[in-house]
Amino acid sequence: MYKSCYRESIDNPVSLTIYSWVFKAQNLSFKTPSLDTCVKCDTLHMKIKFSEGTEREENEKLMKNHQKRAEKVYDKKSTDRALSIETRDTVVLAFDLQQCLPTPYLKSGAAFYKHPLWTYNLALRDCTTNTVYCFMWHEAIGGRGANQIASCLYYYIMNCMPAEIKHLIFYSDSCSGQNKNIHVVCMFLLAVRNNPNIHSITHNFFVAGHTHMDCDVDHAAIERAKKKTSMDNYQLVRSCGKKNKFTVIEMHSDLFLDFASLLKGPLQQKKIDEKCLPHSYDGPIPISDEKKRDLISLLLLINPSARSFYTDILSNKDIQDEHPLLNNSDGD
Ligand SMILES: [Zn+2]
Repeated sequence: MYKSCYRESIDNPVSLTIYSWVFKAQNLSFKTPSLDTCVKCDTLHMKIKFSEGTEREENEKLMKNHQKRAEKVYDKKSTDRALSIETRDTVVLAFDLQQCLPTPYLKSGAAFYKHPLWTYNLALRDCTTNTVYCFMWHEAIGGRGANQIASCLYYYIMNCMPAEIKHLIFYSDSCSGQNKNIHVVCMFLLAVRNNPNIHSITHNFFVAGHTHMDCDVDHAAIERAKKKTSMDNYQLVRSCGKKNKFTVIEMHSDLFLDFASLLKGPLQQKKIDEKCLPHSYDGPIPISDEKKRDLISLLLLINPSARSFYTDILSNKDIQDEHPLLNNSDGD
C-alpha cells in the first residue's frame, strides 16, 4: 500500500530499487499506526491468539478473507487510476470529510475551555491529476450529513470537472450517514441527467477499518500547516498543496440541496426535476447561546476585521452542543 501511495502521489516516481536505497540511506522508517486500527482485524487477531485447532483455522481464514477484500479495493483504485491516465475520459476521485476544524483557531490558553465554531472540510482529490478541491463551510451554514456531502460532489460534477470526462469513479469510506446512502445515489442520478457528457458514475467503498486514502495526506498537510500559522481556516487550506495549491470552494446555504426530496418513498424515485429541488436550509442555522457567549468572550483575541463575523452569528437557547467526535464514524 505504501508503494502504491507513493507512486500515485507524484508524477515521475523512481523505481522500487532506488526508492528503497534512498529510504535506507536516509535512515527512514514507516511509523506503525498506533491509533485507528481496524476493529475487525484487532478482534480476529485476539481470537487467533487465544484459540486452537479448527476454531483457530476458521479465524485465520476469516482474517485472510477480510484482509484480501480490503487489499482488493486498494488494488482496484490503482488499476482505475492507471486506466484513467491512459484513456483521458475517466477520472478517479477520492473524498473524505476532515475532522472538524475549530474556529477561531487560537493558541491562547483562554480558548482551551471555550466552545469553538466548527468548520467542515470535505476534501476531494482528483487522483488522476492530483488536484485537490476542499469544500468548506461552518456549522452556522450547514451540518455534515448526507445532503451536504452530496451537494459538494454535485457542485464538483457540475462546475469543476473537466469537460472531456465521461466516466467518474469515486472512492470513499462507507459511512452511511455521509457517503453510502440514498441521498448520494439520487444526486448521481440528477448529475447524469443534468450533465450530458457523463456516461457512467461508479462509487466504490473501502472496507471499514481499511480506509487509508489520498485525502488522509491532504488532511495531514492542513493539520501541519495549522500548527505554524494563525490564518483563518479557508485561507490556511488555500496555502496547502505542493505542486498544485488546494482549491477552496466556500459552500453557502443556497448550494446545499435536499436530494432526499427526489424520493417518493424508500427506494422509489420521483421524477427528477432540478428546478423543484428544494434547498436544505432556509438561511443561517443558529448556534447555542453558550457557544455564542464563548465566541464573544474571545473577540479581543481575534483580528478586529473578523469580529463582526462572530457577533453576527445567530444563536438560540434551545440548541444543544454536541462534540463532533461523539458523532463521527467512518462506517466501521
Ligand atoms: Zn481489518
